[in-house]
Amino acid sequence: MGLPQRTVDSFRPGGPLAQAVAEYRPREGQLQMATAVSEVMDSGGMLVVEAGTGVGKTYAYLVPALLSGLRVLVSTATKALQDQLFSRDIPHLLGVLGLSVRVALLKGRSSYLCLYRMEMARQDWRLDERSALLHLARIESWSHATQTGDLSEVDALDEGSPLQPLVTSTRENCLGSRCPQASNCFVNRARREALSADVVVINHHLFFADLNVRESGVAELLPSVHSVIFDEAHQLNEIGVQFLGRQLSTGQLSNLARDLETVTQSVARGLAPWAALAAALQQSAEALVARFPESERLERMDWSVTGARWPDLLQAVVDALVQVESALAVVAEMAPELQMLQTRVAAQMELVQLFLQPAPPDAVRWLEIGRQLRMLQSPLDVSTAMRERVLPDGGGVGGNKSWVFTSATLGHDENLSWMVDSCGLAGARILKVPSPFNYAEQSALYVPKNFPKPGDSQHSFAVAELALQGAQILGGRTLVLTTTLRAMRAIGDALARSLQGRDDLQVLVQGSLPKRELLARFLQSGAQQQGTVLVASATFWEGIDMPGDVLQLLLIDKLPFTPPDDPVQQARSKELESQGKSPFKALHLPQAAVVLRQGAGRLIRRESDRGILVVCDVRLNQMGYGRQLVAALPPMKRLVEAQDFSDALEALTRPSTTVLP
Ligand code: SF4
Repeated sequence: MGLPQRTVDSFRPGGPLAQAVAEYRPREGQLQMATAVSEVMDSGGMLVVEAGTGVGKTYAYLVPALLSGLRVLVSTATKALQDQLFSRDIPHLLGVLGLSVRVALLKGRSSYLCLYRMEMARQDWRLDERSALLHLARIESWSHATQTGDLSEVDALDEGSPLQPLVTSTRENCLGSRCPQASNCFVNRARREALSADVVVINHHLFFADLNVRESGVAELLPSVHSVIFDEAHQLNEIGVQFLGRQLSTGQLSNLARDLETVTQSVARGLAPWAALAAALQQSAEALVARFPESERLERMDWSVTGARWPDLLQAVVDALVQVESALAVVAEMAPELQMLQTRVAAQMELVQLFLQPAPPDAVRWLEIGRQLRMLQSPLDVSTAMRERVLPDGGGVGGNKSWVFTSATLGHDENLSWMVDSCGLAGARILKVPSPFNYAEQSALYVPKNFPKPGDSQHSFAVAELALQGAQILGGRTLVLTTTLRAMRAIGDALARSLQGRDDLQVLVQGSLPKRELLARFLQSGAQQQGTVLVASATFWEGIDMPGDVLQLLLIDKLPFTPPDDPVQQARSKELESQGKSPFKALHLPQAAVVLRQGAGRLIRRESDRGILVVCDVRLNQMGYGRQLVAALPPMKRLVEAQDFSDALEALTRPSTTVLP
């Protein structure tokens, strides 16, 4: 029996899924997608599937992938989704389908404990903070028990923890075969397992990073893989351009300075003024950051802001690196760690030299400033790399390799051109599978009239007031998604002031706690006396699942257009203009539609969910493009007047069989 037929059989009423999963209901859309995936896996080629919320797309691609018996690479956008596939969905399906398939999880090396560096960190005299020492002791005790070395198993260690770079490796500082811990190394173990598995779960970052530097084993895996499935494929282009490009951060320079001091302390103490050399390198890195006073900093800045002094500042970094290089040249033979440092110095020098030269015409160069400053240069999109380096045989057309790209949102037109064009997937089969939810009965869209315009100083206060109005009626159950961190803080502060002294409602703001904990608290608050309003931005727009009545009111502060001064968008706009296309129609509008749909998708997660989406942006009503953005949203009922909104809020407090008015 062929793969399409075996796939259909798995989903049929009375089939293995129906027998094993109590809540399983055959869904036409899921079957349609699963059939299409099985067909492309059978015949080879490219398939792009937009599957609305509730279709069950994960099972729709996993079932044929697991049934196929072929070597499959599954890539998703985040490590959390990777863990979910590997620890929950795949084992569950293997049990249901009665299959025995070797499955491996592969992440980037920064996800795994480096045993060698952990030992170094133990001897690091600068690690004198009590909490850091306590965390290190916990990691050490966990390292004896863990099978994987995956640091996500260590609850107390956040990704941004300053301890993280001290106990993980980078390509530059890994000692490879010269490492005394090489035989126990968790990174090596994960790669070995991936190379011998049938199904390997990776993430997009790793996929593109490896395409660029061929380091983690993905590039070695690819030729032997029959099918590649990209979930959350709407993120492929943005993640891809980051990792296909070149970048140098002040964090990398600081880490080098730090490692120089630590390594030489143990193997070359007193043979050169290491502390002074490290300090000079550190200072040259700090001078790059100091070039931009806090008041001038934006998350992403056009390269032109660097100004006339920038080459001198970069030259100072080169000078500091040259000094380090000369000192290392004298002692490098003494220890492999010193040779590794030499390699890192050379690599960073090459990057600084690159950024001292003008950018090539087909690339965009920019700066990012957060906790550190990053200089970046990347292609405008991943289409060329995908065509020339990933899909060299035309995406399997003519061969038998298959490629599946899927997400809940991939564009706003029939051809999904926003995604297909940017990823170089011309010729792919396109499938759009609508959500099975009855949005008109389960949900409503409200765009308040007479609301301050997005640029108005009162806008954030008005959003906070509306959130408060809803949260008071619903007992919390409210999520506010903002397009900027500034608006998030303003709305969070306004709500905190309004709720001061009240114990029936609380506000949680992204950043006040780790994301995992914020979500746990929000989910728990549904069952508690104290209701919650969660105010968040960026990563909360997608990938979070709040089913049931935990979330009933979702406010989006503004239409999520990329800031017009974003350097990458500017470069893409210029490119489109040079092709005679409208950047607004071809780029900005479809991109905003995809992000808006992702955000709105947080509201209705199940057939029994009900909720209201409020978009606090009058442009949705007033501008011509507003209609296109509304059309991109699920077909929700429209609430026009403030009274309609109040009535709908009240309706949500009544039993869940009530259809929204
Ligand atoms: S081989 Fe590299 S990653 Fe593995 S323990 Fe050694 S230094 Fe760390």
